[in-house]
Amino acid sequence: MQPKVKRLLVDFFSCSACSTLARKVFGHGIPIFMLHRMREHGDAIPPEAATSDTHLRRCLTYLVDNHYSFLSLRDLTHALAHQQRLPEKCVVFTMDDGFEDQARIAAPIFAEFNCPATLFLITGMLDQQLWPWDDKVAFAINQTTVASFNIAIGENSYQFTLNTDKDRRTARRKIQDAIKAGPFDQLTTILANLEKATQVEIPALPPPQYKPLTWEEARGYEKQGIEFAPHTISHSILSRLDRDTASREILGSWQRVREELSNPSPVFCYPTGRYCDFGSREVKLIREAGLTGAVSTIPAQVRPELANDYYRFALPRYSLPNSFSDFKLYCSWVEYVRERNLRYWPR
Ligand SMILES: [Zn+2]
Repeated sequence: MQPKVKRLLVDFFSCSACSTLARKVFGHGIPIFMLHRMREHGDAIPPEAATSDTHLRRCLTYLVDNHYSFLSLRDLTHALAHQQRLPEKCVVFTMDDGFEDQARIAAPIFAEFNCPATLFLITGMLDQQLWPWDDKVAFAINQTTVASFNIAIGENSYQFTLNTDKDRRTARRKIQDAIKAGPFDQLTTILANLEKATQVEIPALPPPQYKPLTWEEARGYEKQGIEFAPHTISHSILSRLDRDTASREILGSWQRVREELSNPSPVFCYPTGRYCDFGSREVKLIREAGLTGAVSTIPAQVRPELANDYYRFALPRYSLPNSFSDFKLYCSWVEYVRERNLRYWPR
């Protein structure tokens, strides 16, 4: 569909009269949005890799103007567990990983709109032990000066040419996807091969452009209203780990946020978060740890009528789109009806 036609349709279907009627007829869901990196005017971070402060402000203004309520993820999971009635139009915001720019830029904006937000922490990063493997891949591809390179990942070998920004984006995505799909236990070797192929030394701890929060800063943002929650120790894909290691990643990160913060949110976030990245084993471990819910990256609105003991630990989320029109669509009843008819939720 032409972007302009799509924009006009989204505007029409999201208008107040249409939306009120359709929500009564069809019902409604709750979008949870996730943000990754944040950028302000003048930051070097590429636009597609981060949410700008102006875009976040525009999205929140739209929600206020259109009478949406803001709900914390903690309150949403509590309401789902106890089958409590939720506001007719509400939205939840989350952020993943624990980089310094996320809290520094987003926290004052969320506070300005009185909007609760949950920031999931890779606790090993805040403990200054590591940084995420997927960001290491991005770092090597962004920094390299070679014009092309080859790399073998599992059974497959890949060749990349890096003439344009688009080439770099493609290389990043393909390598990250190949690692997710392939031999996750060979990650150390793959990253060493990537260093050789790109002639970029990947530091053991995050370089300045991937600066994590410190625990001290997190405590300060907690006082400003940000809720913090566990996102594993090392950002490993849980379904690819043996049971003891997966358990350590879940329990260890939950323990660290409870040790360092006053009132962490008891909701877990799966690294990468696709259907295949977690399963009933992880849900059981999370429930046994006393956590009350978990979020995935499966893009859909939350449907309270589905909230059984598995669904509450696999809640869907949208990546906050950089397109304002897509953002309005994800908040709308149109998206709820479309997803309901896809019927792709596992039972
Ligand atoms: Zn993450």
